[in-house]
Amino acid sequence: MRQSVLVTGGNQGIGLAIVQRFAREGFATVLSGRRPDAVSDAVDKLRKDGLPVSGLVLDTGDRESIKSAIKQLDDDGVTISVLINNAGILPDGTLADMSDDDLTASFDINVLGPIWLVRALAPGMAERGYGRIVNVSSDWGSFAGGIGGPGAYGVTKAAMNASTVRLAKDLPSSIKINAMHPGWVRTRMGGSGAARAPEEAAETAFWLGTLPDDGPNGGFFYDKKEFAW
Ligand code: NAP
Repeated sequence: MRQSVLVTGGNQGIGLAIVQRFAREGFATVLSGRRPDAVSDAVDKLRKDGLPVSGLVLDTGDRESIKSAIKQLDDDGVTISVLINNAGILPDGTLADMSDDDLTASFDINVLGPIWLVRALAPGMAERGYGRIVNVSSDWGSFAGGIGGPGAYGVTKAAMNASTVRLAKDLPSSIKINAMHPGWVRTRMGGSGAARAPEEAAETAFWLGTLPDDGPNGGFFYDKKEFAW
């Protein structure tokens, strides 16, 4: 059995930079995404660079897709010791008037998907006595910052933060789960005018995904420093 890293939404943006960060360190890294073509294109490019990356179709907003992706990992003998919940969406509108479908998708993808994945993968981590889980959240999910952003985004990231705190208490101590704010990053979501490159954001994800046994658990971080909830 190989011990691997699983990154959701790994075909572009911050997720892709996180995949590259782990793979360059020699970690067998599973690049997952909801669009099969986008996943295979991204994997092909990274493999050409000699990186130890494999692809997985995983739509984090779809429970059936999550179940079949987990089965695929089992069938392939891939065990996940590091889970990076990176996939996220940012629909327009306000919480009061956004479309029903966007509201549902926001919670399915930004909140429930990460929790379903933890529920599926944490038992194996616990059995093997090691697990690291990173929730890619946002400063817009911070109560201290006033819950920002359009639509349901800030509310979903606050819920992701709350689930991080709760799961850190529920899971065995061999598993560490932390949330992070990546900063304002030049991606499709962040736009071309954003302040930082995806590679900078990937640094904190890599740090949290490789924490030593005495590292933090149940925290919220920005650039490896504690961030206000
Ligand atoms: P991005 O460029 O829009 O990329 C998002 C990634 O998530 C894409 O690969 C996308 O896949 C994937 N994704 C969306 N819905 C999915 C689903 N249902 N299943 C699987 N994958 C799905 O965004 P990003 O800027 O890299 O954002 C990554 C994370 O950082 C998000 O959680 C975001 O909320 C957070 N964040 C970003 C910023 C910023 O400034 N960029 C700031 C704070 C927090 P497709 O290619 O198929 O669409």
